[in-house]
Amino acid sequence: MRYQPIIGMEIHVELKTKSKMFCGCVNNPFYAPKPNIYTCPTCLGLPGALPFANKKAIEWTVLLGLALGCQINFFSKFDRKHYFYPDLPKGYQISQYDLPFCYNGLIETKEGKVRIRRIHLEEDTAKLIHQKINGEDVTLIDFNRSGVPLIEIVSEPDIHSSTQAKEFAKKLHQIIRYLDIADCDMEKGGMRLEANVSLQYEEGKLPSYKVEVKNINSFRFLEKAVEYEIKRQEAILKTGKTPHQETRGYSSEKNITYSQRKKEEAADYRYFPDPDLPPIRISNEWLEEIKKNLPEDYDQRVNRLAEKYQTKKEWLELLFETDDELKILEEVFSSLKKKGVSLAKLINLLINKKIKVNLFKDSLEKIVLEFKKITSVLSLNQTDLEKIVFEVIKENEKAVYDFKKGKKEAINFLVGMVFKKAKAKLDFHQVASLIKKKIE
Ligand code: ZN
Ligand code: MN
Repeated sequence: MRYQPIIGMEIHVELKTKSKMFCGCVNNPFYAPKPNIYTCPTCLGLPGALPFANKKAIEWTVLLGLALGCQINFFSKFDRKHYFYPDLPKGYQISQYDLPFCYNGLIETKEGKVRIRRIHLEEDTAKLIHQKINGEDVTLIDFNRSGVPLIEIVSEPDIHSSTQAKEFAKKLHQIIRYLDIADCDMEKGGMRLEANVSLQYEEGKLPSYKVEVKNINSFRFLEKAVEYEIKRQEAILKTGKTPHQETRGYSSEKNITYSQRKKEEAADYRYFPDPDLPPIRISNEWLEEIKKNLPEDYDQRVNRLAEKYQTKKEWLELLFETDDELKILEEVFSSLKKKGVSLAKLINLLINKKIKVNLFKDSLEKIVLEFKKITSVLSLNQTDLEKIVFEVIKENEKAVYDFKKGKKEAINFLVGMVFKKAKAKLDFHQVASLIKKKIE
């Protein structure tokens, strides 16, 4: 038989709440000026320190659950997950075991539906930094990240290819960015991907093992790691053996996965309810409050706008990420449409110049101004441009002379002068060829 890949994903995302999950410390691990400054007894794991739960983080977890069509647990709690590691000095992570905030959701992909098993809320660990100091290998610990709210999204093993795994992760990223509850910066570790991969080798029977691939920090690497793992396991199965149940890391330099450790069983973690934190009850009233912050369904909204502004969904998606940015974009579009600006042309231009709404976050006026500047380029017609080119040639005899003598770089200077006079963003090559033509 052909081996069928069975893939489930576990994705961790750091929420961007102002404060940490169980204390009042600042939640800003990536841009902290120094290590270990956003700390207190609670997030340092000192004995006797008491945690209290961050309400916003709970609301955002539920919000994501709603966006993914999940059921919500009206009665939920936090549990201790025990393990020993230097980045977790209190000996356990506060997480959720049998009563996650959300369960039974769904993400649609081109290759089929992927069910979401659960979304739970937990705390991030401190960060280990491996360094050489005075010729010695040392490990430093930065607690700025310790206790940052972390959501874990677990899918059912409904994914059957590396491309589907990638699409699933990308869609989740898109939805979380749209809800504006996390930055999902993959490079910094704000979103971390794990894939559980195994191959079905007996018809109608789930495989007896699974391999967890960790340390994946880009969508491309996810695709590659899963691809590699499928080939590796296939080779083992073909010899009649079964791959080991284990955790493997992924090396992007070598493009291989490598064995890290035998996979723990849930029992090894000695889960039990955290006695320091009361259970969480989500009332109907509270849920209704949270629902007010749920924007229109992502796909539905973008499709509708693409139709309205006669553009492609994929193009619109290049211009915004969050719900707020899309709101700004809509406002700007509708005001420009009233002024008779061709939106199709404008959208093209924005994409070509790689201008995203979030590049000018400041204020609506500033954005409108920026858009006007850009649209003024549209009104700079060929005659005006030629006039400017002609002037520049007349005013810069030396550069023109140099160019004629074969000094190719002189053209850069002339193009620069045209740019300056036009006070608009123009295409370099188009202007350069126009100047050459005029000189000839
Ligand atoms: Zn703290
Ligand atoms: Mn976790």
